[in-house]
Amino acid sequence: MRKYIFITGGVMSGIGKGVATASLAKILQSYGFRVSAMKIDPYINVDAGTMNPTEHGEVFVTDDGLECDQDIGNYERFLGISLHRVNYMTTGMVYLSMIQKERNLEYGGKCVQVVPHVPEEVIARIERAAENAKAEIMLIEIGGTVGEYENLLFLEAARIMKLRKPGSVLYVLVSYLPVPGVIGEMKTKPTQHASRSLNVAGIQADIILARSAVPIDKPRKEKLSFALNLREEDIISAPDVKSIYEVPLNFEKDQLGTIVLKKLGLKKKKTDLREWKKLVSVIRKTNKPRVRIGIVGKYFTTGAFALADSYLSVIEALKHASWSHRHDAEILWLDAEEYEKHPEKLRELKVLDGVVVPGGFGSRGIEGKIKVIEFCRKEKIPFFGLCYGLQLAVVEYARNVAKLEGAHTEEITKKSPYPVIHILPEQQVLLDKKDYGGSMRLGLYDCKIAKGTIAARAYGKDKIKERHRHRYEVNATFLPKLIKRGLVVSGINPQRDLVEIIELPNHPFFVGTQFHPELISRPLTPHPLFREFIKAAIKRHK
Ligand code: GLN
Repeated sequence: MRKYIFITGGVMSGIGKGVATASLAKILQSYGFRVSAMKIDPYINVDAGTMNPTEHGEVFVTDDGLECDQDIGNYERFLGISLHRVNYMTTGMVYLSMIQKERNLEYGGKCVQVVPHVPEEVIARIERAAENAKAEIMLIEIGGTVGEYENLLFLEAARIMKLRKPGSVLYVLVSYLPVPGVIGEMKTKPTQHASRSLNVAGIQADIILARSAVPIDKPRKEKLSFALNLREEDIISAPDVKSIYEVPLNFEKDQLGTIVLKKLGLKKKKTDLREWKKLVSVIRKTNKPRVRIGIVGKYFTTGAFALADSYLSVIEALKHASWSHRHDAEILWLDAEEYEKHPEKLRELKVLDGVVVPGGFGSRGIEGKIKVIEFCRKEKIPFFGLCYGLQLAVVEYARNVAKLEGAHTEEITKKSPYPVIHILPEQQVLLDKKDYGGSMRLGLYDCKIAKGTIAARAYGKDKIKERHRHRYEVNATFLPKLIKRGLVVSGINPQRDLVEIIELPNHPFFVGTQFHPELISRPLTPHPLFREFIKAAIKRHK
């Protein structure tokens, strides 16, 4: 009998519901169960692809090319597995498919209604995802906060599932307990309200994860227990921690896994968090040596929070790689536009051990990024370009080394005499039709690695697959000129001959990838190119 655990959020957003879901999934996986997880986002967008990073945070991409929320990234990083399209659902997706079905007469002439048809569609999708993963335990995180209009129909689906599968459905409320400065005491009232809001939707929380700055104490557990029909042990302490990867171990201090299994009538098959514990002990070790890595970004206008969110997978990948070298990554934000206005500031980059130019779109900050790349190339600072980072590195090389004056990417101008980066032909067709949603070159594609390169050394094999999200590519017309001047193409998509990886010899580390390696880096298996990059950065530091 397959089990389902719904995770909802109380009081406010941004309290780590995704990490809590990923952590519970990790614990259950460590007990020997086949676990999968899915995310429900209540917005109308069909996927996350059309949203601005400052609006949404970084867009994550699955193997099968879905543009989705970072929570899917967290599930993958914690569970060490790849998830798929079916593991994600939005209101837009649900309605789009229902309306299509209605147009195709698939409802057999019935009046199609919000209730029950929407919750039924939601349930069908949850079951499909669970079946696709052959999951013994399926975790479903419902985005947003209980009490919001947006997620009512998803809660309705959760309620109905318990009715149909008695004993196999569990509800977890991740709630927030503030400790207001003036009062100096943890308050339970907002959580009481959140839990009652769930009751209004016909759902009684089985477990509360008590998110707070500090661990929840006994008197407060007693209070919540009394007010909310829960045993004290079903209220799990979830204080702030330094690293998200500590959360599973913290939950286990309060026996979360055992409690969940008991409620679901399951028995532990084994317990194996050994590798994870080793990882956390490396993370926790305080006086590790550091490498200083600059990330050149452009989402500065909305503050440092926007940055950390917009480049989340990149940050995680840098950390994973650094930990594997028993180092900490110190990340510095470099504002691309600053280097356009004040080129003298480029000198300050010398204190860095490595620079990442991550993915991006559009013209803002472009010339600044190109200046940074030129500086890294000349000053032999380890450089890693991801997607747009590769494209701009090619532009820089074309302009400054191959002397193709005015070289550019077609994304910025159609008038360059040397469009060294140009649009993929099938992408032009899509853009002409204004077909923007979910239409980039997305997901896994093959890449063949050239012998004797940095890429070959990093991967240790000659065939790989990596995740993509782009419309433009290196223009084959000008490539011979660049190669003649020393640019090395170390990865090629064999089916279409597209450039996937470039690098420079005679440089400690100068690599660009058309794909997004950060998307498949995981704490227990850091990405090989990030590992090589950090290795070069450590060497420079010394
Ligand atoms: N804007 C570039 C393209 O569409 C790069 C995309 C990216 O960095 N993800 O090809």
